[in-house]
Amino acid sequence: MSSPAAQAPALAGKDRRKVVIIGSGFGGLFAAQRLAKADVDVTLIAKTTHHLFQPMLYQVATGIVAEGEIAPATRVVLRKQKNTQVLLGNVFDIDLEARTVTSRFLERITVTPYDDLIVAAGADQSYFGNDHFAEYAPGMKTIDHALELRGRILGAFEQAELSHDPAERAKLLTFVVVGAGPTGVELAGQIAEMSDKTLKGAFRNIDPTEARVILLDAAPSVLPPFGPKLGQKAAARLEKLGVEIQLNAMVVDVDYDGLVVKEKDGTTRRIESQCKVWSAGVQASPLGKLLSDQSGAELDRAGRVKVLPDLTIPGHPEVFVVGDMMAVDGVPGVAQGAIQGGRYAADAIKASMKGQTPDQRKPFSYFDKGSMATISRYSAVMQVPIPGTKKKFETEGYFAWLGWLALHLVYLVGFRNRLNTLINWFFAFTTRGRSQLAVTEQQVYARTAMSALEKQNAEIEEAARKRAKSGAAAATDPGTVSSDETPATGSVPTEGDKSKEKEPEAS
Ligand SMILES: Cc1cc2nc3c(=O)[nH]c(=O)nc-3n(C[C@H](O)[C@H](O)[C@H](O)COP(=O)(O)OP(=O)(O)OC[C@H]3O[C@@H](n4cnc5c(N)ncnc54)[C@H](O)[C@@H]3O)c2cc1C
Repeated sequence: MSSPAAQAPALAGKDRRKVVIIGSGFGGLFAAQRLAKADVDVTLIAKTTHHLFQPMLYQVATGIVAEGEIAPATRVVLRKQKNTQVLLGNVFDIDLEARTVTSRFLERITVTPYDDLIVAAGADQSYFGNDHFAEYAPGMKTIDHALELRGRILGAFEQAELSHDPAERAKLLTFVVVGAGPTGVELAGQIAEMSDKTLKGAFRNIDPTEARVILLDAAPSVLPPFGPKLGQKAAARLEKLGVEIQLNAMVVDVDYDGLVVKEKDGTTRRIESQCKVWSAGVQASPLGKLLSDQSGAELDRAGRVKVLPDLTIPGHPEVFVVGDMMAVDGVPGVAQGAIQGGRYAADAIKASMKGQTPDQRKPFSYFDKGSMATISRYSAVMQVPIPGTKKKFETEGYFAWLGWLALHLVYLVGFRNRLNTLINWFFAFTTRGRSQLAVTEQQVYARTAMSALEKQNAEIEEAARKRAKSGAAAATDPGTVSSDETPATGSVPTEGDKSKEKEPEAS
């Protein structure tokens, strides 16, 4: 049984304009920080406790850095920002008419009213309608994914060490990365380096350097957004590392022991592989559909909201959609798109407090600072627009790699995280050792428990939605927590609340 909905706690002090931000990623966090000095109450609601620096997830998966270094706690990052509170919760309902956001944390349902709303809930992995692939080929979007993947990669080597069957060993030592975009390229390169260098000589019955790393894509090239020249250079560098690149190869089935690939000529073949990773597509947060259903805003094929030029949705100049959830021509799904979108929305809110009307807003314009992807130690590709022209400066190799390191350090949140990362990088890149190779059973086996939990959570949210529709949820006073209906934070789980012990983001 879930608790009836309670109103979100109000920030102490004046009854000010309420800005609610959904998401603590690049869009959400940078929007909140931009409102630090504004005369508003900001409530940031996110389903994870941290601000995740996704571009370095592959380094967590392959043991270079620890998860905490790329995921500082959001409430600690924002602790000095007195006009801001951080609430943990999965937002599952937005009522554009009532101007409320409803979220769930464990069995606790919270309703948060807003005057302005910034939706920055990002995107998930897309399996193009084959969601069952996820069980055997996890994506790379969260800390959970990265840790599970680390467990799967190292676990495959451990099993191979114990196996006496050559066919089984070959299957265990074949790693398949699906999707040859930046994430796939980075992962394939790192798995190859790890097996070739870090794990070399660490086993007695197998030779880790004999592991096969396969990078697959249905497209005809590697790193398509970087153009043919850089794509070919990246492919050549990967091949030098021993990565097998298989293009024009579409994955049509995935199971525990491998996957089935369809070639361009229609023939199919099977690859035996225990450890598969999916980095082939994205699907925007389902909150986009909620907004679309109520406002008539269109969605693109990836579920992104086709926002108006000021990043709002039709009929609602107070609702902004930013980051990976927004579809804006010429704006790629990258960190800069989200940061600039989040800051734009915050600036528009501040301007409206000074009397600017929505029709006076300047359209959002994206400043392309360029893109980069690492391939391996000492090797990356980089593309930077040349000001005043439509051309781009392109380079690859050592200097691009140094540029990647420098830029990612700058955007990593927190001085200590930067320092720790720098130290870890120094050792990983000079000695080829990696300090984060620990794996726990929880990381490897928690997926089954989590799927059961997700089902349970969906039921709780559905029940709350039904209650809200029938009017039962509107009972509490604005700005207060109803303590008789909702237990105080940290209270003992109620009967039937088994999910509390398993909730992965709750600790
Ligand atoms: C593996 C990987 C590598 C990448 N590498 C690069 C790179 O090198 N360079 C680059 O520029 N970009 C890179 N990107 C893309 C970049 O990380 C994203 O474009 C960026 O994070 C988008 O920011 P966002 O705020 O829209 O979403 P996110 O950063 O994904 O944040 C979404 C937030 O919303 C929260 N949330 C989601 N749903 C809900 C809900 N229902 N209720 C409450 N909270 C919710 C999440 O917990 C999270 O806090 C990479 C992405 C990945 C996955």
